[in-house]
Amino acid sequence: MSMTDPYGRDITYLRVSVTDRCDFRCTYCMAEDMTFLPKKDLLSLEELDRLCTVFIEKGVKKLRLTGGEPLVRKNIMHLVRELSRHLKTGALEELTLTTNGSQLSRFAQELVDCGVRRINVSLDTLDPVKFREITRWGDIGRVIAGIDAAQAAGLSIKLNAVALKGFNEAEIPELMRWAHGRGMDLTVIETMPMGEIEVDRTDQYLPLSVLRADLERQFTLNDIPYKTGGPARYVEVAETGGRLGFITPMTHNFCESCNRVRITCTGTLFMCLGQEDAADLRTPLRASEGNDLLSAAIDEAIGRKPKGHDFVIDRRSKRPAVSRHMSVTGG
Ligand code: SAM
Ligand code: SF4
Repeated sequence: MSMTDPYGRDITYLRVSVTDRCDFRCTYCMAEDMTFLPKKDLLSLEELDRLCTVFIEKGVKKLRLTGGEPLVRKNIMHLVRELSRHLKTGALEELTLTTNGSQLSRFAQELVDCGVRRINVSLDTLDPVKFREITRWGDIGRVIAGIDAAQAAGLSIKLNAVALKGFNEAEIPELMRWAHGRGMDLTVIETMPMGEIEVDRTDQYLPLSVLRADLERQFTLNDIPYKTGGPARYVEVAETGGRLGFITPMTHNFCESCNRVRITCTGTLFMCLGQEDAADLRTPLRASEGNDLLSAAIDEAIGRKPKGHDFVIDRRSKRPAVSRHMSVTGG
């Protein structure tokens, strides 16, 4: 079976936010004093497994767990282990996650045992003081130790860095050399206007076209057709031999090849990261033991997947384009 939206895009990639909670408070992502969802609203791990399984039966080939911080959800490895059965049957091609790395030392080996091969780790700076400033609560030593443990366990890592004006733009070459020196790809991401935060996003926004032009003064960037199933466009850096990806939701519209949908930890399906339209899957999930209602609700929602987002970082309105935080839909 396959899910195809009104614009002919096959939906093969599901991102699941397993919790909205996190042990960091990155300034571009959350307010320091966040209100989290009441635990009772969350889908249980069994319900998340059922929901993911229905999506896999409907054609999803790649599944990414995210959050909030996916590795702080209680017993998360139980879900990973359950979902890994779909890798064994071949129904699922890839099971992966996006993490801030703080808990990786603990879970790296178990992730590998469950068939996880590649993960994304978010890291915006290598400077311990700046790291604390941007994450508010994070400890870079733990993240580096987590990366070490993940690599020792055999996981491939892609680093994700949000490009922030005046914060880490000058440091991207160093971060890239470090990542490439350790055999990791690096992807830089533009900040997206999602959720109320305490800082002004227009001050943080750095168009990647500017960053790329800067990098091209120091490095030779060769466009390559490499794809990971996500929205990044990659170049190979001649001087390091490594790959650098750009995710440019603001300066370049990547919606035409969008193959993904997202579910939140309460079972809400978002057909687009940059739109408010959503479908409640928790009600049909809980309404019967069979999956017919759920499957019909998914089909109906995919039939409404919008053509694209319309993010704008607007100095006048000051309001985010999308009111929910990235930690709800998981980026
Ligand atoms: N906690 C995990 C982590 O940090 O990797 C997973 C969830 S986090 C919301 C997923 C990604 O979204 C991270 O790479 C983070 O840097 C990015 N992110 C968060 N808020 C963002 C924003 N407003 N614009 C762009 N990227 C954002
Ligand atoms: Fe947590 Fe990830 Fe958001 Fe940072 S970006 S606050 S680590 S969810």
